[in-house]
Amino acid sequence: MKEIVVQKFGGTSLADTDKIKKVADAVIKEKELGNDVVVAVSAMGHTTDYLVKLAKEINPNPSAREMDMLLSTGEGVSIALLTMAIQAKGYNAVSLNAMQIGIITEDVHQKARIIDIKTDKLKKNIKAENIIVVAGFQGITEDGEITTLGRGGSDTSAVALAAALKASRCDIYTDVEGVYTTDPRIVPNASKLENISYEEMLELARVGANVLHPRSVETAKQFNVPLRVRSTFNLDNLGTLIIGAKNMEIYKPVTGVAADLSQVRIVICDVPDVPGNAARLFGALAKENISVDMIIQSYARTVSNTNDIAFTIDKADVVRARSVLDKIKTDLSAKSIQVDENIAKISIVGAGMVDRPGIAATMFETIADLGVNIKMISTSEIKISCIVDKEDASRSLKILHEVFDLGSDEIADVKGDLPEL
Ligand code: ADP
Ligand code: ASP
Ligand code: MG
Repeated sequence: MKEIVVQKFGGTSLADTDKIKKVADAVIKEKELGNDVVVAVSAMGHTTDYLVKLAKEINPNPSAREMDMLLSTGEGVSIALLTMAIQAKGYNAVSLNAMQIGIITEDVHQKARIIDIKTDKLKKNIKAENIIVVAGFQGITEDGEITTLGRGGSDTSAVALAAALKASRCDIYTDVEGVYTTDPRIVPNASKLENISYEEMLELARVGANVLHPRSVETAKQFNVPLRVRSTFNLDNLGTLIIGAKNMEIYKPVTGVAADLSQVRIVICDVPDVPGNAARLFGALAKENISVDMIIQSYARTVSNTNDIAFTIDKADVVRARSVLDKIKTDLSAKSIQVDENIAKISIVGAGMVDRPGIAATMFETIADLGVNIKMISTSEIKISCIVDKEDASRSLKILHEVFDLGSDEIADVKGDLPEL
């Protein structure tokens, strides 16, 4: 029996019609290897950002349902155009959106999780020898409501399709040659990794290495999907393989570093130190489906018996979070609420830091030597994150990359826009 291969092409690979024709070549190359090919695509170039901008011009706080109606249209354009490009080269292809297939998600707008993918239509088309081009990022609820998976979510669509179809692999094609020790746009001598474990990749993706959507790594790990990140523009390079486990002995304590500029810090000041306040606060945020990342509660002050609770959330949730907090401020008897948008989270990730004391101290010393103040710290077994001021992000990231010896002699081949850092 033939193997099924799922390929995913991001917006950067589909920015204009010439690039779409190049993507068609990459798809056909895979088909010519004798595989059945299912392709998941994202919206062209910066289409999704443009649609978000249009919405904000009309309504500063648009409803999540209408945002999904709007944002899901971007991928519809790419599937039709890529299918036409493949057909123009003489191959059978068909485009399908998530509603036609039945990519069923939970009933949540803007960050829905996939519950199930119906495979009947996909299998029928595979049998008919059609290359299938699927709209990533979008889904449909059991009730027929259109949803999206969250920004960058078409990686997750691709991996979920690979899992549902028991594909032999899922290749994520993008505008860099693989996963690097950090974003090669920020640190040009970042080293390309031959392979990386699911666990490390998941942490890196969660802390800002947006080359992969975190949930795509989670899904690949859960369903054992072999996952590769590789370049659309250099098909001979096999990129980076995300695998179950790396070498038995890990020599470098840190595998990668990342910066995340998408968070804001909220501090609830002078909350009475009584049972139930943290539960009330985070319960109210959870009810609005607002995910909280770092949480720090200060030691209670002896005289006032109050403490401060600081946490970070995604920038996109800040308007809704403010309205939740305004409502429960009196309930919590909190004195004031501060929102700090000028922050960046800098993280180091590595399975090699387990049982190696001193890695955290080296990170803090390195940042301190720059004269940069650390506002919050959080750790997991294989990750340490520090919140710093946004303007200190770039130099903190660069020096940590150097101190943990992650650089290479080569300069990464990157084209296009530089990130915000
Ligand atoms: P796509 O449109 O293909 O989904 P993305 O912009 O979402 O592309 O992801 C690719 C980008 O991820 C790269 O251009 C690079 O700037 C950025 N990136 C951030 N961290 C890393 C990393 N550790 N390795 C590789 N790329 C990274
Ligand atoms: N087009 C969507 C976005 O820009 C999904 C994706 O790119 O993966 O977030
Ligand atoms: Mg992406």
